[in-house]
Amino acid sequence: MITNWINGKPKEAASGEVFDTINPWSQTSHDTVALSGQEDIDAALDAARDAFDSGPWPQMGFGERGALLHRLADLIMENADELAAADSKDMGKPLSAMLAKDVPRTAQNFRFFADHARLSASEMYPTDSGHHAFSRFEPAGVVAAVAPWNFPLMLESWKIAPALAWGNTVVLKPAEDTPGSATIMARLATEAGFPDGVLNVVHGFGPDSAGEMLTTSDKVDRITFTGESSTGRAIAGAGAANLVPVSLELGGKGANIVFGDADLEEAIKWSNTAIFTNAGQVCLAGSRLYVQREIYDRFVEGFVASAKKLVVGAPNSPDTNIGPLASETHFKKVSGFFDDLPAEATVHCGGPAKDGSWGVHPTIITDAPPDARICREEVFGPVVTIQPFDTEDEAVAAANSSKYGLNAMLFTENLRKAHRVANRLRAGTVWVNCFFVRDLRAPFGGVGWSGIGREGGTFSREFFTEPKAVVIQP
Ligand code: NAD
Repeated sequence: MITNWINGKPKEAASGEVFDTINPWSQTSHDTVALSGQEDIDAALDAARDAFDSGPWPQMGFGERGALLHRLADLIMENADELAAADSKDMGKPLSAMLAKDVPRTAQNFRFFADHARLSASEMYPTDSGHHAFSRFEPAGVVAAVAPWNFPLMLESWKIAPALAWGNTVVLKPAEDTPGSATIMARLATEAGFPDGVLNVVHGFGPDSAGEMLTTSDKVDRITFTGESSTGRAIAGAGAANLVPVSLELGGKGANIVFGDADLEEAIKWSNTAIFTNAGQVCLAGSRLYVQREIYDRFVEGFVASAKKLVVGAPNSPDTNIGPLASETHFKKVSGFFDDLPAEATVHCGGPAKDGSWGVHPTIITDAPPDARICREEVFGPVVTIQPFDTEDEAVAAANSSKYGLNAMLFTENLRKAHRVANRLRAGTVWVNCFFVRDLRAPFGGVGWSGIGREGGTFSREFFTEPKAVVIQP
């Protein structure tokens, strides 16, 4: 059974209730999971509160705490196979991607935030009056972290690593579809020597379940959430009710602009990665392509050829590029977009698998009107629409026409144009001639429906601490 992890120990739900976790490749339950109720949430929050108020964690020096975070990173790498298998079984992600990317990046997140906190622990403000003024970044307290299922381990570490590095204690609720890796990570934190209660995990669902119980509790000091924009609204409301700061990393509908002067081969390669990685179940997915008319036909032809090369199949096969979608519910949601396609749309390749699996083949659609559902809503699958454009202004206007604004990409060999367009795009991140290159010091987050707040480096520091000014008379 996948248990909760509370106060340094595995714990079944107080009620004894469980739910199944389904392997989307076999379409069968591969384990049961503790179904937490209010008693379990309170136990986790009380453990986190005790560890914060009475334990050594918030008082430790950055070096000592950082050493434990580095030890956890070591253990994550030593247990890479177990962690990779957990996420792969829970959500169908190819094992090869877990081992090459998600697990090492998770370890790196702990290392980075451990070091960053140590090196940015205070700021000095030389004053004209000679007063000695400086800031202290004090931990906020108990952090509630609620995570999605698309990069379970890695996205959980984006939240937990900075929260812990700054001396907070955490109660994490992973997504109900992907519970496995979180409990393993908490076990490894205990093995690394983290004091009991510093990192707790509770399993369950969202509304009327563990997620809602955790985020509406008046025992939390910060709520950090990644997931759908509609859930973000509910969680923002919960934070407002208790006056608790909330960080929201929400959905996306990434625009990807390919100008006529782009390196065509590079643009096709990155556009492919941007929409088909992780079966398109990526908040940053480049799902709206805008291609300048002079290269439109050549681009579509090359892009379709590149998509057809991707192998959809078993997550544990080394040849697989794209596993099944993460759940039956999600497969039905993505398939629904195909039932709803406007008559004018041309589907060049792809579509839902016809073999009873929950796979969706890489799909490229042209000629859909810009106001069609497929062009406006987040599909969260390997599905991209392409529209031609003539002028730079037209491309920028189309890219900015979405309610979402997480990220955008643009491809051009013209440096001035790259700067000009990057400046005009309404998005939290703009990638020029690349995709998903992340420096953990840089701000990460979205505009509009894509979220509130930023993660990364000092941006995480501002959220997970109570900055204090100290001013001393000379
Ligand atoms: P989701 O909102 O359905 O669920 C996310 C988490 O919230 C789960 O743990 C769920 O149990 C919990 N939850 C649901 N309702 C809740 C409620 N009322 N109160 C408290 N908790 C609740 O999202 P998902 O389907 O797991 O994830 C996919 C979404 O996440 C996509 O929209 C994607 O774009 C977004 N996402 C965003 C980022 C980012 O960095 N901006 C990264 C990854 C995913």
